[in-house]
Amino acid sequence: MKMFGTNGIRGESNGYLDCELALKIGKSIVTVLGPGPIAIAMDTRVSSDMIRSAVSAGMMSMGADVHNLGMIPTPALQYYVKTHEEVTGGVMITASHNPPEFNGIKCVSGDGTECKPEEEAAIEDAYERDLKVVPWQEIGHEVIVDDAGERYIDAVVSKVDVDLIRKAKLKVCLDCANGASVETSPLLLKKLGVEAVVINGQPDGMFPGHYSEPVEENLAELKERVVKESADLGFAHDGDADRCIFVSDKGKYLPGDYSLAILSKLQIQHGEGKKLIVTPVSTSAMVEELVCSLGADLTYTAVGSPIVARRMIADGSPMGGEDNGGLIFADHQYCRDGAMTAARMIEAVARYGSLQAMVDELPKYVTIKAAARCDNDKKEILVERIAANHPSEKMDRTDGLKIIFDDGWVLLRPSGTEPKFRIYSESKDADVAKRRSDQFVGEVADILKSL
Ligand code: MG
Repeated sequence: MKMFGTNGIRGESNGYLDCELALKIGKSIVTVLGPGPIAIAMDTRVSSDMIRSAVSAGMMSMGADVHNLGMIPTPALQYYVKTHEEVTGGVMITASHNPPEFNGIKCVSGDGTECKPEEEAAIEDAYERDLKVVPWQEIGHEVIVDDAGERYIDAVVSKVDVDLIRKAKLKVCLDCANGASVETSPLLLKKLGVEAVVINGQPDGMFPGHYSEPVEENLAELKERVVKESADLGFAHDGDADRCIFVSDKGKYLPGDYSLAILSKLQIQHGEGKKLIVTPVSTSAMVEELVCSLGADLTYTAVGSPIVARRMIADGSPMGGEDNGGLIFADHQYCRDGAMTAARMIEAVARYGSLQAMVDELPKYVTIKAAARCDNDKKEILVERIAANHPSEKMDRTDGLKIIFDDGWVLLRPSGTEPKFRIYSESKDADVAKRRSDQFVGEVADILKSL
């Protein structure tokens, strides 16, 4: 039975995701990530204590010791797993940016990276079996670990130029969305010596401020506050703080590809290692243009942060990330990391000055994102039909179909999670981007009608 989606098992608390499922998944996890100890952590959701307890009980019944790290961000759990040799895996209880009634279970391999699809499939297989618990003498114990968040922040701080940041005397607004970053990210700002203004900083799983997805409509308060406080920048995390989205010193919301571009520049000019950035094919060509203008290279992958992370490892790239604010830094760990992203952006502002001025200097592109409803069994045929319709165009088949024109590109990509087909069109010329978007949306509709 398929249970894991692109970000673990998700469902409504006490609906699909109830104690019985959590307990049995806990048992199943040990058959794949055991023998343990296994670390477990959670976000601030109302149901997180309940789900964490049930998963932990299942794991202990199979003989695994459990390290309970409490309420910390997903990357803090991953850092703990990565840096504790004896820990054989990790479990995060979170539904990231989903509404408050949801929760989720996400699994981490012994090296701290997200579990591979094969490991998730093995957990699903175990879930179907009748698993045998250990004799009473071998039942696992729970150890409470209360400093995993602070150790994680110390590691983040050690990867940036703290003297430079302190001297810049910056003021930063932080929106924790009442999620898992409420303790760690304010601590980060304190350790970096910046003046902090924290909003939505209480652990509250009802999400009283706004939902935990850091999209522009949820960040009106942060944008206003940055201007009112004359802050140098603002940033916001999603519910489990593996992502980070920024607001400029002028109170402007910055889509994730802007931060990817600016932090790529910092990495190329001041970081160590290969001059190579990794990002999915859906990212704006603005990033590629900037990276290449700095004498570095850019590699495209399929969409998905674990895919980006694995390519970074294979190619020896120091930095990569997606355009949703999930950035990965190889000198820290191979997963999306909200606090590390924030720390690097604060360093970039300390080094280069105004964030808005940096944004204004970036190459300008117009990207139009559209989607069509498409049944899963029609997705592949649709891709092939479109490819056949454009035999003489330059194509990239890394993920779906990317048609590359002299003055822009179109990406036609089946969604991995929903019955949807995504159609992105980008160009420096707004009219061209719009014309191609209309053209391919029409073409997709025509083909779907004929299937
Ligand atoms: Mg997240």
